[in-house]
Amino acid sequence: MEYKIYGVYCEGEKNIDLTTRPHIRVEESQALAQELGKKVASGEVHAKPWQAWLPSAPSAPSEYIVISGPCSAETEAQVRQAAHALASKNITKILRAGVWKPRTRAGGFEGNGVKALEWLANIKAETGLQLAVEVATAEHVEACLKYGVDIVWIGARTTGNPFSVQEIADAVRGTTLGVMVKNPISPDLELWIGAIERLYFAGIDKLVAIHRGFSTHEKTLYRNNPLWNLALQFRARLAHVPLICDPSHIAGKRELVPAVAQKAIDLGMNGLMIEAHPCPTSAWTDAAQQLTPDALAELLSSLKWKPKPDSHEQDTLDRLRAAIDRLDEEFVEIMAARMNLAREIGMFKKLNRLELYQPARWKEVLEKRKAQGTKLSLSEAFIEQLYEYVHQESLRVQSEVMGDPMPHQQKRAK
Ligand code: PEP
Ligand code: MN
Repeated sequence: MEYKIYGVYCEGEKNIDLTTRPHIRVEESQALAQELGKKVASGEVHAKPWQAWLPSAPSAPSEYIVISGPCSAETEAQVRQAAHALASKNITKILRAGVWKPRTRAGGFEGNGVKALEWLANIKAETGLQLAVEVATAEHVEACLKYGVDIVWIGARTTGNPFSVQEIADAVRGTTLGVMVKNPISPDLELWIGAIERLYFAGIDKLVAIHRGFSTHEKTLYRNNPLWNLALQFRARLAHVPLICDPSHIAGKRELVPAVAQKAIDLGMNGLMIEAHPCPTSAWTDAAQQLTPDALAELLSSLKWKPKPDSHEQDTLDRLRAAIDRLDEEFVEIMAARMNLAREIGMFKKLNRLELYQPARWKEVLEKRKAQGTKLSLSEAFIEQLYEYVHQESLRVQSEVMGDPMPHQQKRAK
């Protein structure tokens, strides 16, 4: 089933269904949300507002959560240095540190396990910071409880596995742990919501959702495609669950972290989890994306924090224009990704001595898009003109990599 929705919407924006392909999952989603809403209303399941259980960040306005710490607890000295710096600079009251690291490839650093929990317990005693640790099994949860961890989080690779999420939900049942749930790696809203539901049903009401971007086939600037629209749909579906953003894992590069953090705040998220390391370039994991505590302090002070806009009070025209701006932004990003693919095709054509302009392929592209456009009430003339420009630019970037300055002009004239 195809499930691809472009465009981002503020909670409460009425036009979410207009550009959402109508029959896909919307009714299903609404039914589920209604059912959950009833359970929340009847008290069968509930979530506490985050202010009731999380300390607010001294570095940000009081309506935001800020969590920070190193990707991995590497050595006791490293995590102590990070924690003391974050505490003394008043960046956060919650220290994150990876103790068990899920690695894509075998052979990497997989975390120090229980040994690191001992360090964290000492550091908590020294700094007063609360501890947040990623867990993937019931055994991890048991160990965290033993060493006084306050909050556990389910990582992106684990959220996608309902067996593991259920195992964790059973392990946290009856405890006072806060639980944070990252979105799954794949852009599947149901899996994310399903994981939250399992925790609700286990009686956990101290919950936070974390948006950390998704793996998609599209190449973007980022390590993980943010797909902001999916995060906002999560928000619309589970409005009572605080949603924070993890710009570090979306960005993948420290230079991109500030822009992603700002966008998350602009979209009304409740806070940020950002990785910080005393010496990021020599970090054992995620070296390219971690910030020094100083850089993080600077980032937090440069962010334009603002309260979530009240969509009911916003002027309708402003709201619609803001929605258009978000779509346009996404449109330009998609065009940039398309041109990157065109460059790769250019390289391929060059290596294989293929013609730059391939009329059969161009005809196929145009026909497919015209058919799609017709279904979505876009005129053929519009699609033709739009794609004429797109195709011209695509040929231009291909001819650049092929070292063949615009020969398509002559070829097309034939
Ligand atoms: C992390 O927070 O260090 C981590 C492994 O994140 P994710 O699960 O988002 O990849
Ligand atoms: Mn990391």
